[in-house]
Amino acid sequence: MKRIFTVIYFVFGLSQLVYSQSIQDLMNQVSNANLQLAVSELSGEQATMINGSLQTITSRVYNNNDLAADFIKERLEAFPNLTVEFQNFNTSGKNVIATQLGQTNPDNIYLVCAHYDSVTTYCADDNATGVAAVIEIARIMSTQCTDNTIIYALWDEEEIGLRGANFYASEAVDETNGNTRDNILGVINMDMIGYDGDAPGTAGDNEFDIDVRNIANSIGIKDDLISILNTYTFNLNVIVVNPGTTASDHSRFWNQGYSAVLVGESWETNDQTPDYHTSGDRVDDIDFQYMTELTKLVTGYFATKAGLLSLDNTLTQSPTELASNETSGSYQWINCDTNTPINGETNQTFTPVTSGNYAVEVSNGSCVERSICVSFSVLSTEEFNPNDIRVYPNPVTHILKIENQSRLSLHITLNDISGKKLRTLKTKKDYLEIDVNDLTSGIYFVEIASQTKSSTIKIVKE
Ligand SMILES: [Zn+2]
Repeated sequence: MKRIFTVIYFVFGLSQLVYSQSIQDLMNQVSNANLQLAVSELSGEQATMINGSLQTITSRVYNNNDLAADFIKERLEAFPNLTVEFQNFNTSGKNVIATQLGQTNPDNIYLVCAHYDSVTTYCADDNATGVAAVIEIARIMSTQCTDNTIIYALWDEEEIGLRGANFYASEAVDETNGNTRDNILGVINMDMIGYDGDAPGTAGDNEFDIDVRNIANSIGIKDDLISILNTYTFNLNVIVVNPGTTASDHSRFWNQGYSAVLVGESWETNDQTPDYHTSGDRVDDIDFQYMTELTKLVTGYFATKAGLLSLDNTLTQSPTELASNETSGSYQWINCDTNTPINGETNQTFTPVTSGNYAVEVSNGSCVERSICVSFSVLSTEEFNPNDIRVYPNPVTHILKIENQSRLSLHITLNDISGKKLRTLKTKKDYLEIDVNDLTSGIYFVEIASQTKSSTIKIVKE
């Protein structure tokens, strides 16, 4: 018996697998577990892979924190759509800057930042928390193509005079040598976002501060954050501090006339960590539920302001192929099992020849969004015995009749000569009719498949 290969469809009918990318969905991707792990790694509670070996970040003090910088750079480099660089500003000072270029207005910049240096060992709250949050926001937002540019900045030497941020902000406004002033539209600095200690032994009051001043559109950032708090569900209570503190990196952006705010635990209600600037500032004292909420809020701000491009990274799965739902992008199909692109598979549709898990990357300019991976099964099947299936009359003018003696559940499609599906149905009946009166004269194919057998029958419509 002749054996052929046919794709069999095991998923649930012709369902569409949707990967949503609403602002709520992006905020929901903030992972408490990711934040806990990153704070533990950054504060030296837990060893981690850096530069190919298991190492412990035992210091983030400004003149002994290159390992922390390497850790941050490596984590950011693992995400799509980012360009990651060190920005050296003196012999010991080194910012880590990751840029996600906007596809529509690349000169419009939104910047999220935190300082990674510390005054002594551990310093989990100050400021492994802010760094972990920036990395988590980068992980989530880097999967999206955006209208505007997002910059993820991790500053060095905050603790000895806000030096890293000062250098960056000064460079941003430098107009010598033909440079133009960077169009930074919003800065959110996260410094100490993990302590909520009111009412010891209870859950805390979830109060946090937004430190703002009436500089450029800083008030507007505060308003946008409050709007997000009111639009979505948070377990947070906001306290607006105006005039806000100048004692962290955002103030260096104020100095240059940029819009900026600080988001963090509530110094205003005297609810900052009691272990401030001591090696008692350990991961055990971090309230990760609270920190997760603050990270979600800031994610919501950048998801809103960056402008999510309507690039559709959803897929439709049919019995014979996978199709991207994006109609105008570029495509690259991916083998998820090897995490490699499939050579030559750059069309909107893809017919796998082996069973496996597949995804598609759709791109717009230099930005790429990847779909979820879907499972696709290709089974070796036999053709039906000619006595099992009868399709008649052929040629046909009005009613096409199908007799099924196989006792198998059938998946039947009627395709035109280009492969376009005109009718799709599933049946266990032993007789059915398909009205083809509306079809133009020509050649058509009836594909009939069970889980184990298939046949394709050519018919002529008169
Ligand atoms: Zn700090």
